[in-house]
Amino acid sequence: MDLSNASNLLSNNVKILKSEASKTAYQGVLIAISSIIIATCLVSLYVSGSISLENLWAAQKTNVALWILDIIPFVFGIWGQYSSSIMAYQAGALIFDQTQELRSRTMDLEKHTNHVSTHDLLTDLPNRALFYDRVARAIASAHSSNRQLSILLIEIENFKDVYDTLGRNSSDLILKQISIRLQGASSENDSVAKIDGNVFGILVSNILSVNEAEQLAKHIQKAMEAPFMVDRLQVGMHSNIGIVHFPTHGEDVDALVQRAGVALHMAQKSAKGYAIYEPSFDRHTPLRLTLMSELRRAIEKNDLSLFYQPKVSIQTNELYGAEALARWDHPTHGFISPDEFIPMAERTRMIKQLTQWVLKRAFKDCAAWHKQGLDIKISVNLSTRDLHDPDLPDLIAGIAASTGIQPEWIILEITESSVMNEPENALAIINRLHDMGYQFSIDDFGTGYSSLAYLKRLPLEELKIDKSFVMDIMNSENDATIVKAIINLAHNLGLSVTAEGVENDAIMAKLRDYNCDIAQGYYLSKPLSVNEFNDWIKMSKLFPHSTLMPNTPTIDAVAKYQSEISH
Ligand code: C2E
Ligand code: CA
Ligand code: CA
Repeated sequence: MDLSNASNLLSNNVKILKSEASKTAYQGVLIAISSIIIATCLVSLYVSGSISLENLWAAQKTNVALWILDIIPFVFGIWGQYSSSIMAYQAGALIFDQTQELRSRTMDLEKHTNHVSTHDLLTDLPNRALFYDRVARAIASAHSSNRQLSILLIEIENFKDVYDTLGRNSSDLILKQISIRLQGASSENDSVAKIDGNVFGILVSNILSVNEAEQLAKHIQKAMEAPFMVDRLQVGMHSNIGIVHFPTHGEDVDALVQRAGVALHMAQKSAKGYAIYEPSFDRHTPLRLTLMSELRRAIEKNDLSLFYQPKVSIQTNELYGAEALARWDHPTHGFISPDEFIPMAERTRMIKQLTQWVLKRAFKDCAAWHKQGLDIKISVNLSTRDLHDPDLPDLIAGIAASTGIQPEWIILEITESSVMNEPENALAIINRLHDMGYQFSIDDFGTGYSSLAYLKRLPLEELKIDKSFVMDIMNSENDATIVKAIINLAHNLGLSVTAEGVENDAIMAKLRDYNCDIAQGYYLSKPLSVNEFNDWIKMSKLFPHSTLMPNTPTIDAVAKYQSEISH
């Protein structure tokens, strides 16, 4: 607000308050005048025995006490006007000050919220989103002014070992120290960010050649050489550095970050501990690293497809729903498993587009099945980054409206680790979606942090036991005990339980013994395309549900059908 606006506001406030305060002053004057009239009448009555105009005039002329009384309204008027002006001005200034203070507090709060969503809480460095944003801006400005830039990805190689040995507090302290050393080693114009648990990024803007970035890498390695002190222990940290250069190695953020990842992979194998990207590296790196830049095109060109794996109610043998699982049919590499491309989409901003694609397709298929009278719930997997995207609830509302699905037909699968990362933000998004009617399931239960405190805070309907426990319950007593305990825990929390990885009838029977609610696994069906899924339903409908029991022709027929379609 500028000064002239502020003084206008203040003078308006003063006018309003003054007119209120003046009312009381006018009342004072009125009372004083009434007192004079009454006093004059009384004097005239007392002195002359009657009240007439003449007697009143005589009373006024001769009585000194009345003269003093006559002055009082003027004193009241002037004094009232004066003090009301002062009070009104003071009150106006007070309101103005408080408004300004409130305004500045709101602005501080806004700044703080912005800061939290774009920075790593531990180190206070920019987070991945802000880093990519800065890289994109730097590329745009380098483009227009013909400048060059480099990106360094620094991975702390032995971080997991340190974490496992020393625990979270000590490894957090080390990360803080690393962030300080990295900032010390780089120049003021470079942007240092924390882009993953143990990966940092440095954007070096405006350099003359990739050699400068190489020098910085050596400098960083030197800075990291001295041991880190935690709890009076000296801990040595080993880092690898991958370097890419713009415009030589790529023209956009995704390509550059992907290639920096490839260079990092080569750095891990090299004696130097750092590597500058070369196209020949692509041949020696895992498929997942080279495919990253192709994923965007795959989404746009519809090379992805969505498969559905049935979920069957264990007690009634009825079809309960299906989990939507993404598949990538690559023109040269063939079918690529989501275990390959989901983690790489998570490392870049691509996961947002991928999740959007999956949601659209899954909601559309779900609407079609419900239209056919099939009352099933479709489960969709959400990633960590989805749970930190404040646009997600609106995006889902938009897709739901355009496809005509009801929120209660959908189950959103989340993992414990995705919530543990900035839990307050994730919880806010989860609660919003839950209020909109979407159900939540905790996926891969047993493999993550398993914090019961968080489990209680989440608005969950379902818990999915990870397949690694379920697949082995026939051979490992330990796993059987864990599965049984998880089922009891979930039931005590009022959650329904799905067991994944049900591969044979023995497992199915044991789960039924344990009172597990829903089964998902190869024994019932592998993930199927929409057409295969429709055929599978027709197949299982050939037999009454009550006979859809392990070892009955139904399951065998389905299994035979399964093996036929998978060949
Ligand atoms: P998940 O969510 O735990 O999905 C279950 C995985 O177990 C699927 O692997 C499924 O094919 C496999 N599976 C099912 N039954 C059995 C069984 O009886 N035995 C064995 N050995 N495996 C079984 P898939 O489809 O390869 O997916 C792997 C992971 O990729 C998923 O694990 C999920 O975390 C992720 N994923 C898949 N699609 C999506 C997606 O659309 N979005 C996101 N964010 N993640 C996805
Ligand atoms: Ca899942
Ligand atoms: Ca799972």
